[in-house]
This record gives sequence, structure tokens and C-alpha cells, in this order.
Amino acid sequence: MADELYHFIGGKRVKGTSGRFGDVYWPMTGEVAARVPLASKEEVRAAVENAKAAQPAWAATNPQRRARVLMKFIELVARDNDKLADKLAREHGKTIADAKGDIQRGIEVVEFAIGIPHLMKGEFTEGAGPGIDIYSMRQPLGVVAGITPFNFPAMIPMWKFAPAIACGNAFILKPSERDPSVPLMLAELMMEAGLPPGILNVVNGDKEAVDAILDDPDIAAVGFVGSTPIAEYVYTRGCANGKRVQCFGGAKNHMIIMPDADMNQAVDALIGAGYGSAGERCMAVSVAVPVGEKTADLLIEKLIPRVENLKIGPSTSPDADFGPLVTKEHLQRVKDYVALGVQEGAKLLVDGRNFKLQGYENGFYMGGCLFDEVTPNMRIYKEEIFGPVLSVVRAKTYEEALRLPSEHEYGNGVAIFTRDGDTARDFASKVNVGMVGINVPIPVPLAYYTFGGWKRSAFGDLNQHGPDSIRFYTKTKTVTSRWPSGVKEGAEFVIPTMK
Ligand code: NAD
Repeated sequence: MADELYHFIGGKRVKGTSGRFGDVYWPMTGEVAARVPLASKEEVRAAVENAKAAQPAWAATNPQRRARVLMKFIELVARDNDKLADKLAREHGKTIADAKGDIQRGIEVVEFAIGIPHLMKGEFTEGAGPGIDIYSMRQPLGVVAGITPFNFPAMIPMWKFAPAIACGNAFILKPSERDPSVPLMLAELMMEAGLPPGILNVVNGDKEAVDAILDDPDIAAVGFVGSTPIAEYVYTRGCANGKRVQCFGGAKNHMIIMPDADMNQAVDALIGAGYGSAGERCMAVSVAVPVGEKTADLLIEKLIPRVENLKIGPSTSPDADFGPLVTKEHLQRVKDYVALGVQEGAKLLVDGRNFKLQGYENGFYMGGCLFDEVTPNMRIYKEEIFGPVLSVVRAKTYEEALRLPSEHEYGNGVAIFTRDGDTARDFASKVNVGMVGINVPIPVPLAYYTFGGWKRSAFGDLNQHGPDSIRFYTKTKTVTSRWPSGVKEGAEFVIPTMK
């Protein structure tokens, strides 16, 4: 019997009342392991009411105390790490080792948010005029919300709620309905760490819950991560309702391999970044761009056996390179893209579509696929596939290689592999993409820098985590004060200046 999941509102587990449920699968076996309630507008409203009532006292709690809750939370996540990683791997499909990485990259943002007493400091100018001092302060927005994707069910919720809560906001999290258990577990750990009820609420659901969040007048800001069409929708509707909104979308990340690159390192990097987590990462490398025919031939020669020998296994296997895809529908979608690539004339060198795992015949597995001779006009190049499929686009020159990611509609991450400092520097400076790696295939910035793509990979002005997260979750107030010693007699009718 599948477990029935719940919402987490006002510090308590709350049964769903909409009568609508979604199935939560274990991709490695294909079984339905749980049913998740899909919230109605009224259920979202109940979470907002709880958040709204709890938020002023939390904002008035001094920042060091707020930070201590996060410190305790880090300890509790470490205590329950194996349990969290096991659940995450089962619901998502990634391996347990990769699930631990998912949790850890989230925790690193919690560590950053612990610096909140310092991060929220304002500015002060003494003597800006006679007896006049000016200061600025950062204040929380109130109730804010986060809508997160299936592919990092621990990391991205933490990227959202840790800085928001540290700033003194109350938070409504709407995690992916495909793997909602870990976000629920994290919310309970925040309570155990001492967070007051109502400050972190988890509302499970689909479009109905998302629309309720976007239309709720008491939610001041929304942070979203997911596919580009939904990111654009959330951005447009949230902004139309007067909210502060930031939305991070899909990607097509290129890796340029220059003729002077260390080819073994480049191949190792491509295998890990292209096929890790079955390619279901927004920073996965899905396009390799070797420069020059010789580089391309050598790359292909080395890649083929590596792709053919990838170890695909159940998420709980310590030996697997990657596990199943998230759902049967997504598996089919990825296989359809491979068929489309063949139709479009790309050369399929390794075909993993027929892979079957003995003993796990109902799981959502496929092997790695490798395409050569992909060209920019093909849909498999233009669109995000989000699976274990790597496309090789051959470039004749460095200039052509630089143009490919720069002109692509997505602009999340990009990498260049070279030993030449001058080329690397030129590339980092000129490429029209938000996050760049030099001999680093997945250039996800660390927690104290900001994360965000360009072009249709992101909508809104501020990035996630790092200093931008504090800007996103606070508003600035500027106070100008004058004391009687600075006041001249008489009314002033002309606008005061510093002339
Ligand atoms: P998704 O867009 O299907 O879902 C994301 C969220 O939106 C979920 O919470 C979902 O319930 C909600 N949603 C889905 N359909 C909706 C609709 N019609 N109306 C309103 N809300 C809706 O994305 P996904 O499949 O969960 O995640 C994979 C995608 O996320 C990929 O495109 C990947 O590149 C992207 N991603 C981007 C980043 C980044 O930082 N740029 C990070 C991780 C994932």
C-alpha cells in the first residue's frame, strides 16, 4: 500500500482535503511508493494565514538567534543524512552518493545564510549635512514562496528557504510533486531545530497550488526553479500581480574542447557532467564542441567505449554511475528525442534506448546515448533533452565554437577545456552565458557566489544564493535623521541640496 503524504502547515502535518492526489514513484523499481495530496487554493491560503501570523515575531527575533536555528538544522541534517539520502535516491532515481551531494550543496547555502547578522547590515553616514545622519537597513518582505523542480529535491528547497528565513521572512515551499518526501522531512528538521511554527510551510501540489501562490495578495515574492516555459509563465503572472519574482529555467550547456586540451581530462569531465544523474541536471553538459577535425576524431574515439561501458543501476547500488530517469513519461520523452535526432540526420554512435536492468524490468532506465555530427538547426541541439544524451557539434575554429553557446537561446552554464590562458580568458570574457567553467565541466558557483543563467535560462534581475539572495528576500529602507542642533530657523521652500 502506498504511503499517503501530507502538507506541513503551521508546524504540523496536515492531511490533504482537495480530494486530488498525485502518484510518487520509485523510479528504480517503477512502483508507486506514495500518494501526494495536491493542494487546493484554500489549502494554500491556510498556509499563507499561518505564515502571516507567525512572521512578525520571527522578524523581531534577533538575527543571531535566527542563525542558531540554521546551525542546529545543519547538525540534524548530518544526523539524518543516510535516511534523507536514501529517500531522495528512491524518489528521484539518482544514486545515493549523488543524493548526498544534493543535500550537501543545499547545506552549503544554509552555512552561507548563518552569516545573516553580518549579511543584513545596512549602511551609515555620519554628518551627511548639519546634524544629519543617513542610514539604510534591510527588512524582510513578509511571506515569500518557493516553487521547486524534481531534480534537486533537497538542494533547491534549501537554496530558497534558508536565506529567506534567515532574513526574517516566513516561507511557503511548493516542492515538485514527483519527489516531495525530502522537502517535508527538511521542514520537520527545521522545526526540531527550533523554528517557530508557521515560518516554514510545505504545500504539495501542481498548477492549482502554483496559481494560488501567484495570485495570493499576501505573498510578496516568489522564487521558482524548473523548465523554461513554466519559469516564463510564473514570472509573467507573478509580476502582473505585483510580486517580486525570480525564475530559473532550462539549459543547453556546451563544453568546448580546444586542440591543446588534456583529452583524457576532457573525456572524464564529459562523462561525469554529461551522464551523471542521468543527465537530469540543469548544469549537465549536453553539447560537446571539439575544435578542429583531429580533436573531434580523437574525442569521439575516446568517448565511445566510455559511453558504452557506463554502469547503470538501481539508485541504491554503490557501483552505479547513474540510475533511472524520474518517470516513465520522461523516459519516453528522452527516447523520442533520440529517435528525432536520427531522423534529423545526426549520427547515433551509441544507442542506450534498449537498455534493460535484470531484476528491475519495470524501472525507468536507459543507457547513455552519443550523437556525432549534430548541427545547430536540429531540434536535438536547440531543445533541452534532460537525459543521458550527449551531442557532439564539430566546430572548425575557436570563433565558431564561441558563437555556438553565445547564440543559443539558453545561457545557463558553459565550459572550455584548454591549456591556453589567453584563449580561456578571452572565452570567459566574451561568451554570452551566465556561468563559465575553465577546465571545470559543471561550473556551479559555491554558496557565497550567486547562481544564475542568462537569456531564456532565467527571468528576473537577481540570482539565487550568495549576496543576491539577501537582496532578493529583503527590501531596503533609507532613513535620514536630523537633530535639533542642525536645524536652522525658518521654513525651507526649496528642495534641500548639498550645494
Ligand atoms: P517543471 O517546470 O515541470 O516543474 C517545476 C515546478 O513547476 C514544479 O514544482 C511543478 O509542480 C510546477 N509546475 C509544473 N507545471 C506547471 C504548470 N503548468 N503551471 C504551474 N506550475 C507548474 O520542471 P521539472 O521537470 O520539475 O524540473 C526540470 C527542469 O528544471 C529542467 O528544465 C531544468 O533545466 C530546470 N532546472 C533549472 C535550474 C536552474 O537553476 N536554472 C535548476 C534545476 C532545474
